[in-house]
Formats: sequence, C-alpha cells, structure tokens
Amino acid sequence: AKQRGKANYVRYHGGMELPVVGHARLGGELRRGLDAGEFFVVYQPIIELATGRVVGVEALVRWQHPTRGLVSPAEFIPAAEGTGLIVPLGRFVMRETCRQTAAWLAEFGPDALHKAGPNVSVRQLHDPDFLDDVRRILDETGLPAERVVLELTESAVLRGPQVLSTLHRLHEMGIRLALDDFGTGESSLSLLRAFPASIVKLDKSFVDGIEIGQEGTAEAAARQAVARAVIQMAGALGLDTVAEGIENQEQADRLQTLGYTLGQGYHLARPMPAEDFTRLLARQTGV
Ligand code: C2E
Ligand code: CA
Ligand code: CA
Ligand code: CA
Repeated sequence: AKQRGKANYVRYHGGMELPVVGHARLGGELRRGLDAGEFFVVYQPIIELATGRVVGVEALVRWQHPTRGLVSPAEFIPAAEGTGLIVPLGRFVMRETCRQTAAWLAEFGPDALHKAGPNVSVRQLHDPDFLDDVRRILDETGLPAERVVLELTESAVLRGPQVLSTLHRLHEMGIRLALDDFGTGESSLSLLRAFPASIVKLDKSFVDGIEIGQEGTAEAAARQAVARAVIQMAGALGLDTVAEGIENQEQADRLQTLGYTLGQGYHLARPMPAEDFTRLLARQTGV
C-alpha cells in the first residue's frame, strides 16, 4: 500500500508539471507548425433531422504533424490557449472557414447552406484586434456576416463585461453566436438573457443514452429531462437549438420527439475535409 501511495504521489507531481512543460514545448511546435502550414480545417455538417438536409457546418481545426501524425485539438488547443498562439491559429481557422463558405455559396447558391462557423476561445475575445480581424476577414472573403456563427462556451461568456461588450458588437455586425456544450457549465436563464446568443448546442453528454427512454435508467431519464428543459427554454427565448454528438438513429428519433429539429454527430456525418463537403453539397443541390 505504501509503494502504491508513493507511485501515486510521483504520478500526481508528473500530472501537475507535465502539462506546463508540455505546453511550452508544444508552444514552440505550434508556432513552427503554423508557419509551415500544417493546420487545416475539417467541416462537420449540421443536419435538419426531419429531412437529412445540410443546413450549416461547424469548422474544426486539425494538425497534421510531420512526425506525430494527426494531432487532436483536445491535445493542442489548451496549449495554444496557454501560449496565446490561439490568436493567430483562430484567425487562420476563421479566414479559412469564411473563404471556403463564400466559395460554397458562390458555387452552389445561397440556399446550399445557411451558416458556417468556427469555435472561438475566450483568449481570442480578449485580443484587442479580434473585432478588426473579423471585419477584415469578412471584407476579404466577401462572406456576409449573417452567414457566420461563432461557437463559444459558457465559461468564455462568463468572463465579464469586456467580453460581453465584444459579443454585443459581433451581434450588432450580424454575426450569430452559439452557446456550445450547453448544459455542462453554469447555464442559467440570466446568462442566456444577458448574452446575445441565437443558438444553443445541447452537449453530447445529454444525448448519450437518451434513446434508452423513459423506462430505462434514471440516468437516461435525467438526460431527457435536461434535453427537454433546454429546448423549452430555448423556445421561450426564441433561440435555435442543435443537438450534438448524435451517434445512432434512436437518439435522433428521441431528440425529434423532444422537439429538436437540428443535429450533429457521427451518425449524421463525421467531420470531413473541404473537398468531401463540396461533394456533399453537390449531391444535395444537384449541381
Ligand atoms: P466541440 O466544439 O464540442 O466540437 C465537437 C467535437 O465532437 C469535435 O471533436 C467533433 O469531431 C466531435 N464529434 C462530433 N460528432 C461526434 C459524435 O457523434 N460522437 C463523438 N464522440 N464525437 C463527436 P474535435 O474536432 O476533436 O474537437 C474537440 C474540441 O476541440 C472541440 O469541441 C472544441 O472545443 C475544440 N476545437 C476544435 N477546433 C477548434 C478551433 O478551431 N478553435 C478552438 N478554439 N477550439 C477548437
Ligand atoms: Ca463547437
Ligand atoms: Ca460542443
Ligand atoms: Ca466541447
């Protein structure tokens, strides 16, 4: 038992220090990778559940590292945030997404998809150039602001008056804001009312196991209760909803029964390179 305790102690320290060392090392790598053009964007469709039509798209960043292979954003986004590199990285993702979406709309027409957008970290919202960057990118790419939806987490939104003022400026420009991972943070009615959101994204954790239904586990029933509460609240506030992380048809069916019209998840479509999304739009629009 004593040895085990010691091992845990060592591991504890490793766990505390490694991320810091890791961030610093990864930080240098990130800078290099950014300059070398190793990052790219993949696109996950947002689907109208009743028809299977693509109505929107979430942009997700990927890193093709020369020796480590494809690195997950879960690994490098925290390091990018910690080192501040999320600012140039986020700018790259935003520019790429807007450029690509403008090209899709030009090729397939204005109804091919409604909205597209990246995830935005709170660190980016604190950057004094953020609003100018967004304006410049829209200008350069010709994408109308109304086509852009920025995904933000509740923790970002809760960061005080300066961030809130930036969010209101974005809203005034016509950009839509989506509250990501909804239900996992300190979601509250007052937050939703203070924040100029247009969309809430029901977190995957409430979709997992939701299909087990009323007669299933207490856990599944609790998730359903949250899913139901979220859509009722969104409806009352005039917000759209997207259910995230749908992995089977039973989940899609259950969510529709609860009133969800839009969804995202591996069962509907995985994140894909731009070329594959282009083919998907071509099939859908018959161009
Ligand atoms: P998120 O914003 O909640 O994005 C959804 C994540 O769930 C994505 O993981 C997506 O690939 C994954 N996903 C989608 N459908 C399913 C499903 O049916 N089942 C499961 N198990 N997963 C599904 P990904 O691409 O690995 O991104 C992870 C997180 O990294 C994102 O979570 C987001 O918080 C962050 N992230 C990704 N790209 C960016 C970016 O460009 N900027 C910032 N700031 N964060 C990003
Ligand atoms: Ca997201
Ligand atoms: Ca999410
Ligand atoms: Ca998430």
